Amino acid sequence: MRKTLARLADGREIIYFDESDRAGPPPADQRDLPPFQLRPAMRYDVVLGEWVGVADFRQDRTFLPPDDQCPLCPSTATRFTEIPASSYDVVVFENRFPSFAMVAAADEPVSLAIHDESRLFAQRSGAGRCEVVCFTADHDSSFSALSAERVRTVIEAWVDRTTALSALPEVEDVFCFENRGREIGVTLSHPHGQIYAYPFVAPRTQQMLDSARAYRERTAGDLFADVLAAEERSGERIVVRGDMWTAFVPFAARWPLEVHIYPRRSAPDLPALSDAERTELSWIYLDVLRRMESVFDDTLPYIAAWQQVPARADRDLARLHLRLFSIRRAPGKLKYLAGSESAMGAFVNDIGPDTAARMFREARG
Ligand SMILES: [Zn+2]
Repeated sequence: MRKTLARLADGREIIYFDESDRAGPPPADQRDLPPFQLRPAMRYDVVLGEWVGVADFRQDRTFLPPDDQCPLCPSTATRFTEIPASSYDVVVFENRFPSFAMVAAADEPVSLAIHDESRLFAQRSGAGRCEVVCFTADHDSSFSALSAERVRTVIEAWVDRTTALSALPEVEDVFCFENRGREIGVTLSHPHGQIYAYPFVAPRTQQMLDSARAYRERTAGDLFADVLAAEERSGERIVVRGDMWTAFVPFAARWPLEVHIYPRRSAPDLPALSDAERTELSWIYLDVLRRMESVFDDTLPYIAAWQQVPARADRDLARLHLRLFSIRRAPGKLKYLAGSESAMGAFVNDIGPDTAARMFREARG
């Protein structure tokens, strides 16, 4: 795998991850773009104790363009896209419409830096980073159609980005993910994922750490090691078991189709994985995704979410894992997040987790 760094016309970084040597440096971006200087903000919700990003300029982002206007396809002699090269294997670049982006301290508007006296209206700049990861130059492909070799290259890109983004002093939590399908809210159909480097520990990460800490205080045990061992002993919800990874439907799954993939060895994040673990992960990931896609005779909208531990705090409390889940509950039918889930955060699952695991085991991998 060969990594090549370059800049787009507006100053954003682009990084090529090639499976074979690239002939010469990548071509320059020939577009005439204004300098990249967006100013996302975030506000503190004192009622729930969580930060909320505010990025109103994102309203103008590209929304479901026709295939011949895709900004993630390689550039051609007559059409310049976000990727100046005429072909690529995996490429990562800074999102043009980010929810979080770095702002130089001197540029930070005063109104973003101050807190009011009562601390009830706290706002600061959303100083993180958002990146786009293109999995293939083939517009009509999908993650599940990639080769295991290509998935391995994507894993290397995630490892590289997690390492680099975690080292930024502003960044607290790095989230690599893929949204797939219009039903999930995907605005570009070209196969791609995203990386959010948050300037705070994300609420779900915090909730998970709180559970793990409470479990350790109560039992002196490691919550993730014990959950994995219990699932393996039971076997009821195991979907696929490799030498280094286990995929299972969680006991209290909240989505109709949901599988978690855990490394058997404790690892805090993607960079901590060994070569052998990365290689096995590439086929286990494909196997699980293909099973999930073949359960219903329908396209599968899904979210693939890498849960990593925070960049600095509590790194020994939790374990890296992948959560794959879908809002598809039956062919042609979606589970909407309505009152109970959206307003109260209380999930009700339409498919029993034990039944879902049986469906996945019987499906084609
Ligand atoms: Zn495309």
